Amino acid sequence: MDYRWILFDADDTLFHFDAYQGLRRMFAVHAVNFGADDYARYQEINKPLWVAYQEGRIGATELQTTRFDHWSRRLGVPAAALNEGFLHAMADICTLLPDARALLDALAGRARLGLVTNGFTALQTARLERTGLLGRFDPVVISEQVGVAKPDPRIFDHALERMGHPPRGRVLMVGDNPHSDILGGLRAGLDTCWLNIHGHPAPDGIEPHHEVPSLASLHQLLLG
Ligand SMILES: [Mg+2]
Repeated sequence: MDYRWILFDADDTLFHFDAYQGLRRMFAVHAVNFGADDYARYQEINKPLWVAYQEGRIGATELQTTRFDHWSRRLGVPAAALNEGFLHAMADICTLLPDARALLDALAGRARLGLVTNGFTALQTARLERTGLLGRFDPVVISEQVGVAKPDPRIFDHALERMGHPPRGRVLMVGDNPHSDILGGLRAGLDTCWLNIHGHPAPDGIEPHHEVPSLASLHQLLLG
């Protein structure tokens, strides 16, 4: 393996991110039976907010509260409190993707590992603790803390500084989202690997160095 460093995305790359179950769990506390239609409406608001966040047009706090504005008014509960409850619920239901632990175990001692996530500090830290992975990644780079999100290359500049400026071609960025993980890695001059579990076509103009359908395939690619 030629890579000295492997940088992983977190959500849907190492961790399951089942937002529907997290929302159901959070809303149950407020006596709301959150259903599939509610989830569809939530995503109509949430998804464009994530695009705006990735493009640097809004900040993390605006994203986290605006997506719950409707429910805040309806329930008389502050949006920030609903968001906090949601992040707690997501930490509670957190599980690793199949083969994630085996891959990380196999990479130990063979490459340095970092995490670069467009997530929120409280949730990412809680999940790393609960899965016993907190000590595995250094640095852990969280967009909410850095102030810019993938695909902005400045979040990778920040990571590379904390890594001691290794040669960029010896760093592999692995992630499931071509628009943030792969485009961001390419802009930063890193090698990239797209974890494309659903077999989607690559978006125009975004060409990863590697593409794998599973973490087991990545394991094979890196360690043969
Ligand atoms: Mg992801």
